[in-house]
Amino acid sequence: MAIKKILIANRGEIALRIHRAAHEMGIKTVAVHSTADADAMHVRLADEAICIGPPSSTDSYLNIPAIISAAEISHADAIHPGYGFLSENAQFAEIVESHGLKWIGPKPEHIRTMGDKVEAKRSAGALGLPLVPGSDGAIKDVDAAKKLALEIGYPVIIKAASGGGGRGMKVVNDPEFLETQMSQAATEAKAAFGDATVYMEKYLGNPRHIEFQVFGDGEGNAIHLGERDCSLQRRHQKVLEESPSPVLSTAERDRMGEICSKAMADMGYRGAGTIEFLWENGEFFFIEMNTRLQVEHPVTEMVTGIDLVREQIRIADGKPLSFTQDEITFSGHAVECRINAEDPQTFMPSPGTVTAYHPPGGLYVRVDSGLYHGYKVPPYYDSMIAKLIVYGHSREGCLMRLRRALEEFVIGGMKTTIPLHQKLLADPEFQNGDYTIKWLEEWLEKSKDS
Ligand code: ADP
Repeated sequence: MAIKKILIANRGEIALRIHRAAHEMGIKTVAVHSTADADAMHVRLADEAICIGPPSSTDSYLNIPAIISAAEISHADAIHPGYGFLSENAQFAEIVESHGLKWIGPKPEHIRTMGDKVEAKRSAGALGLPLVPGSDGAIKDVDAAKKLALEIGYPVIIKAASGGGGRGMKVVNDPEFLETQMSQAATEAKAAFGDATVYMEKYLGNPRHIEFQVFGDGEGNAIHLGERDCSLQRRHQKVLEESPSPVLSTAERDRMGEICSKAMADMGYRGAGTIEFLWENGEFFFIEMNTRLQVEHPVTEMVTGIDLVREQIRIADGKPLSFTQDEITFSGHAVECRINAEDPQTFMPSPGTVTAYHPPGGLYVRVDSGLYHGYKVPPYYDSMIAKLIVYGHSREGCLMRLRRALEEFVIGGMKTTIPLHQKLLADPEFQNGDYTIKWLEEWLEKSKDS
């Protein structure tokens, strides 16, 4: 039976984003929310809304029994998890399916495999994706680790198999410190993720982060929608993303995209996914796969003209992919700025009440945000309050339009990272696309002094 009503197990801009795709398809939506989000825009726009708990996300947006009950009470027939929260929880996906609901996401076994980084690397290697040189699976004893580190060469990085969000990583520059750093990494991994398993990789000195968007139908067909360059990061958090990457040629995109879609086809992958690589000196190295929609998906939508959430819903409904690889064309350039309620210099959170709100508009300007005048940004969740996505026929045109759009954007009542983006856009190195994953933090240090 076709999906008629989707419960959106998320909040903020992404809940709104999913609601919009659903409504365009004639599908009703159910919002779930914590008591802190009773006045949120996703709650106001949804056809129905159900409160699932107190502000703390453990008791609300991560509360599986409350979410499943909400789906049953509202007679929803599918659940979209958005990103974050329960989106990469294989057990939740299984529970959803065992309640006869459609899970708008990948097969639970694929979520599980990719959620364990050691397993993910193993399958990625078997599927023909290029890997960062490193341990074949988990590293257990120090002697083996020492031997391997000498083979691949220092510096190396010790990573937690269950890590995420840029946490649980240790760079080791010197053999002398390998043993202590390894045991520290394992202790920290155990404390943070309940799993002490760690593995080793060569630490790349100055790479870019380039990821490919993929889609599979779960039946052995898969396509790719090109790449996003997400190298501009602070503390491993993405700040600004763009597509295409300033360093990739069409031939390289086609070649890597094909490797990715073939891997997904062989795996029988279903739904949307992102394969993340580090890129250095023209070479790609797989680091992980995200089995969900990404925050930065709109830049891909802008350059391909494809609605990714609509596609996710169609696939969950058992429909085939709406296009073949040959039908997908890439045109122009898109950039997304993540706008956070934070001090643009210290990055201290700055939640508050919106006293003025004027989002920019005009041709090729998109704002994904749940903000409105009078809205109170709750202090309990992620500080991202808006995404500004701008398109241009060329990168240069896109950046000029983005500059204008940032100038127009008014969010009163709290500090935001809009001034940070404005400053970034004025930088010649950024304008030349001349940056790596280390660039932004160095640039922030430098701009402190100036
Ligand atoms: P997480 O799941 O915690 O985000 P990732 O494996 O995706 O972890 O790595 C996060 C970030 O850490 C990458 O975007 C990159 O900046 C850095 N990183 C990870 N592995 C390496 C490596 N082998 N060499 C250099 N930097 C790395």
